[in-house]
Amino acid sequence: MNILAGDLGGRRIKLGVVCDGRVIASTVIPARADSPLPERLEAVAETLAGLCAGLGTTVGACAGIGLSYPSIIDTANARVVDHFGKYGDASAFDLRTWARQALGLPLAIDNDARMALIGEWRYGAGRGCDNVVMMTLGTGLGTAAVIKGEVLRGAHGQAGILGGHLTVQLGGNPCVCGNIGCAEAEASTWALERFARRHPDFPTSQLGQESPLDYAPLFRWAATGDPCAVALREHSLQVWGAAAVNLIHAYDPELLLLGGGIMASGDLILPRVREQIARHAHTPWGRVSVEASALGDHAALLACEWLVQEHLSTIS
Ligand SMILES: [Zn+2]
Repeated sequence: MNILAGDLGGRRIKLGVVCDGRVIASTVIPARADSPLPERLEAVAETLAGLCAGLGTTVGACAGIGLSYPSIIDTANARVVDHFGKYGDASAFDLRTWARQALGLPLAIDNDARMALIGEWRYGAGRGCDNVVMMTLGTGLGTAAVIKGEVLRGAHGQAGILGGHLTVQLGGNPCVCGNIGCAEAEASTWALERFARRHPDFPTSQLGQESPLDYAPLFRWAATGDPCAVALREHSLQVWGAAAVNLIHAYDPELLLLGGGIMASGDLILPRVREQIARHAHTPWGRVSVEASALGDHAALLACEWLVQEHLSTIS
């Protein structure tokens, strides 16, 4: 049976229809995350109806809707716990009532990094492995864990997903979460420009010409020997390696998956993270496999099918 799927990112909302582990229709609309959530959900409902019509079916004929959301999520009650500046009214909004009224469907929602992991675990690079940790490198650093085949959520929905907010630099950069020296505050896209501007070589660096300054130009200029770009690249790789070691020590996985937009430069990142893990992770039983995620944007959409089925099994 078809499932409606939505992945609400900071800049884009990816929408799809999923059936039996396949995305059978998908499209993208702008996130407009500074607008009220109910307003954006109207566009979501309209777009999903259009996708269904294109498949010769209707929204009402689907089994449910799953959402991936960049926040801490109370999955039991489908509530956004912390909105991190996106859709400021999200915490007060009753998503299940919206889905019932607007679509006539049950709704399930979970954190975006956790959804990326669920997608990879069930359908992608983590298939067949029941002890998997994921780290997504992008605007922020997302993490999630599956341990012994169970998705780790904890008492308030935040277990496993705050790996980007483990301290890797004492006295480091202030983070959006209130901590200091989080991996995310030291090496993620949102932190990069601020970090770069403080570097003593920045005024003479080619990075000053880049707008927006993100990791693709950083790696490009570092490859030419630009001293500021090289320093920032090395710092970022060390931070991601340290974060990976922390995750391995915390969750004892067999497999660590790296995903997210920055992994477009995975050829450079993967060997360096592997090297750091080999040097510093305490795994006397053997080695953790470290691989790139495989499904890209489709991971979270595919995870919606698993999530809706999980929700339906708890209410039946
Ligand atoms: Zn933090």
